[in-house]
Amino acid sequence: YGKGKWELDPKDLLLSYNALKVLEARYLLKDPETLRYIETPQMLFKRVASYLAGVEKEKRKEVENKFYEIMSSLKFVPNTPALMNSGTRLGILSACFVLPVRDSMTSPSGDGIYDTLRAMALVHQQGGGTGFDFSELRPKGDVVASTAGVASGPVSFMKIFDVSTDVVKQGGKRRGANMGVMHAWHADVEDFIHAKTGELKDVQLQNFNISVGVYDYFMEAVMREEQVPLITPRKTKIPGTDHEYYMVKARNYMREEWVQEEILRELEEKGSVYLDESKIITVDEALAIAEKEGAVVRWVNARTIFQEIVKGAWDSGDPGLLFIDEINRRHPAWYLGKIQATNPCGEEPLLPWESCNLGSLNLEKFVKERNGTPYVDWEDLANTIKYAVRFLDNVVDANRYPLPQIEQATKRTRKVGLGVMGLARALIKLGIPYDSIDAIYVSYQLAKFIYYHAMMTSVELAKEKGSFPAYDPVRYKDVWESAKEFDDILSIAGLRGQPSDYVKKLMIEAEKLDVTMLKDMRMKYGLRNATVVSVAPTGTISIIAGTSSSIEPLFALAFIRNVAVGKFLEIDPLFLEYLRRYELDTPEVVKKIAETGEIGDNPFVPRTMRKLFRTAHEVDPIYHVLHQGAWQQWNDSGTSKTINLRSEEPTDTVEKVYMTAWRLGIKGITVYRDKSKSQQVIYFGLKK
Ligand code: ADP
Repeated sequence: YGKGKWELDPKDLLLSYNALKVLEARYLLKDPETLRYIETPQMLFKRVASYLAGVEKEKRKEVENKFYEIMSSLKFVPNTPALMNSGTRLGILSACFVLPVRDSMTSPSGDGIYDTLRAMALVHQQGGGTGFDFSELRPKGDVVASTAGVASGPVSFMKIFDVSTDVVKQGGKRRGANMGVMHAWHADVEDFIHAKTGELKDVQLQNFNISVGVYDYFMEAVMREEQVPLITPRKTKIPGTDHEYYMVKARNYMREEWVQEEILRELEEKGSVYLDESKIITVDEALAIAEKEGAVVRWVNARTIFQEIVKGAWDSGDPGLLFIDEINRRHPAWYLGKIQATNPCGEEPLLPWESCNLGSLNLEKFVKERNGTPYVDWEDLANTIKYAVRFLDNVVDANRYPLPQIEQATKRTRKVGLGVMGLARALIKLGIPYDSIDAIYVSYQLAKFIYYHAMMTSVELAKEKGSFPAYDPVRYKDVWESAKEFDDILSIAGLRGQPSDYVKKLMIEAEKLDVTMLKDMRMKYGLRNATVVSVAPTGTISIIAGTSSSIEPLFALAFIRNVAVGKFLEIDPLFLEYLRRYELDTPEVVKKIAETGEIGDNPFVPRTMRKLFRTAHEVDPIYHVLHQGAWQQWNDSGTSKTINLRSEEPTDTVEKVYMTAWRLGIKGITVYRDKSKSQQVIYFGLKK
């Protein structure tokens, strides 16, 4: 490419106008001197395909053609860094990173505050997003022995990370994105909760999403309105041991009874085991030590803290919640340590220094029509998954990592995240309203089918190329061990009902899959990747694919876009098709809908259409949560989702959403109430 022939490739005609605009603005390579484009969209896909097939030993050409085919047909699109950086001077191809932050300025292990700041800059420079748990930093006002001074606390350090993010523009292409986490036991947690709301809304930490890490004990204490201790994570020696422990670590581990059980079982089985920092002590023992050491700063009512979180989220969208116990309970490679944080949008809970690369299937492309009746092409979907997972696995090897620790941690688990986009449009094509039990059933079964085939591919890859180095066939935890049944999901959310016969028939291929067979396969042949799926927001790649983002409902059916040369009325193409079908594509109807973006109670529009095209703010919040819950059951990583609320929704709704998410086994949750920020970013790709 570069000097290739510039001719129109019919495949380019699959790209929408908006897709071309986005590709032109940020993805297509330019000559650094003349600033003229040196590639077309098809050349971009070929560049990516050829670079990622480059790590194959055999059948390289065949694999390259397959990679090109699934991308150019827009059935699969990898995450932005892979599209931008493949085969170029910049080497990061992954979107998600989690970096550790220790309680010191710098540290020999490279994870002191300012070491991590540097690591973050290196990741941002090339288009990756970073997540951090700031809970190990001692709270504001705590002692600093070396200078006999007082500490300024985690939130003030976060501000430095925020400014650095502003300064390091990602090759001028996009601003960096971060996730900041603080666990609910931290003495500064109230400062953290208020860091982006009230007077600080739209002012502070603008490059951060923030989430409070909560535990089962905390949520239970919320329900019972019990007191919980706030702790300073200063280093503390546990009497009777030779090791130095973080008080907080001790506390985390004791609360996680599942870890205790698993470790105890192993101790019994094997006689001994390397326990790392997870010495087992009881809750009361640890608390007694904490009190004695002065680590408990004060006691607070868990419900008061929770209500502050809810108020903040209602007011500004931050903070969200991360359910730390659920994250670790459902982490397949749990034996490698404890996960404390996720990447910016929450779809990747990762161990310190781990990174993960993502890519998404365009579900809309697998809904086809036969004699006017829609159906899902399962075979095409399974085939696409096969090459998509192979693609993502190759990224692990083709990646150039910014730091040796990141390379080491990433290659140890080889995590990849195959996700989806276009769910809303796929549902519309199947004639199923997003806010229906049928739609939740579709989500649940699609998630299962995709997980199954992604795992099967990873097993086949292990057979061919070897398992991930940290694979332990016995301790590895399969997703279905914690997956809830479909009926349970409904009842947790307080719904009753059955999927229709129509939808059960549609989903039969997924329903009949025997996932337990996967276990025999992976025991026999191994597993190439510690995780295989993940539901990303697909903010920009869904524009490239010309479909609805991720598992979200449609956001607006028609809207006015302001551009330099004037105002344009943009209509969702699928919606326009329906308008035409009912001969409703008249200026009056369209203009009315464009005013609000939704049909509302427009009397001209037939009821079937009104139901099918309900947008993000019209969908009852419980259905938003249910879709997220359905996808999470068959997902070994996380599910990113924004629970969109109407502006007039009360704080109670946020509370209900957060509580239901916890009960559904979702790993993290965020809400966004319409108009709750002064400058509402347009959803369409300009989000970040
Ligand atoms: P895309 O559609 O561009 O591939 P997504 O919207 O699916 O990206 O986001 C996936 C992940 O990519 C995010 O969770 C985050 O880790 C990373 N990411 C997204 N936007 C940015 C950004 N502006 N800067 C850095 N990382 C980002």
